[in-house]
This record gives sequence, structure tokens and C-alpha cells, in this order.
Amino acid sequence: MIETRNGIRGKVCSTCKQWKPLDAFPTDPTHPPSQGGRHCRCKECHRKIAGRKRAATRTIGSAISILAALLFLIGIAAAKDKLTYETGKLIDLSVQDVTRGFLVVGGMAAPVPGKLYVFQIQLGDLVYFAEYKAGKHSYKPEWVVNDPIEFRTDKDDKAFLKRSDGKELEVVVVKKVRQQ
Ligand SMILES: [Zn+2]
Repeated sequence: MIETRNGIRGKVCSTCKQWKPLDAFPTDPTHPPSQGGRHCRCKECHRKIAGRKRAATRTIGSAISILAALLFLIGIAAAKDKLTYETGKLIDLSVQDVTRGFLVVGGMAAPVPGKLYVFQIQLGDLVYFAEYKAGKHSYKPEWVVNDPIEFRTDKDDKAFLKRSDGKELEVVVVKKVRQQ
């Protein structure tokens, strides 16, 4: 309803309940002449509400980005867990003393002792011979001959044995033998 105060035509804003001159209200042709053809909410209140809506949209937007990032990270973790292992059977594990290199001590070359482990893993009708070289005391195989062993092969004749702690032991596939 139009209320004239001090000769100025105005009305009370439906939101802030303040009387303001008509030009403080946005024009709106859907409002009848009795309301001055103006919106019932003043321009200032319009701005405030629009600002709150924008802020809410921003909050939702950033929540969605955080969620997307989380899903992405979960996806990576899942992909890591999804390394597919095949279960073979450890049919033999041989250990040999080897020289891992030479160390020059006082002008003399001293051999560095090490151990060479050769895993024989049967998968289907193939037996993989895979080697792992380690320092003399730095490694203890955790597998039991004749037990199942989980492993995956790599294109470069590498294989990875799944260890009990979930990590992998990288070995070199030196030979594959097909069972007759
Ligand atoms: Zn207002």
C-alpha cells in the first residue's frame, strides 16, 4: 500500500518493515498501481537476499568440490588395493651364497657377501623361477615351501611377491618352465 509521507510517495518494505520512497523499490509490472507498480521488497533487501543466495551456492559448490576430491582419493586408494595378484604355489626356494660386489678396503678388493634366493612358483602349468638378491643378513624369506604365494608379473620380466605386511618383494623372473 502506498503511504505518502511529507509529500513523498512511498511504502513499507515487506522485509525490513521500513518506510521508503517508491524509487527505493524495484519496478515490477506484476504489482498493481496500488503498490506503485513496485516490488514489495526494497532494493537493499533484494541485494542482501541475492548475496545470501550467492554465498549459499558457493558453499554448496565448495562442498561438492571437496566431495569430488575425496571420491577421487578414494578411487586412487581403491585402484591401489586392486592390484591383481595370482595365487601360485611356492614349490621350492633355494638359497645360495653369492658375491654382491667388491668393496675396496685398504687397497684390497674385498668381496661383499650376499645371498641369492630363487623362488620356484607354480601357476597353472607354468613354473616361474624368480631371483632375489639380498645382503647376507638383511632378508629372511617369510614364505613356506608348498604354501600358496600371491604374486603378479610385470612386462619387463619382473614379478612382485605379496608379502604378509601387504608390501611387495620385487623379484626378477629368470626362467619360465612349462610342465609336461
Ligand atoms: Zn527492505
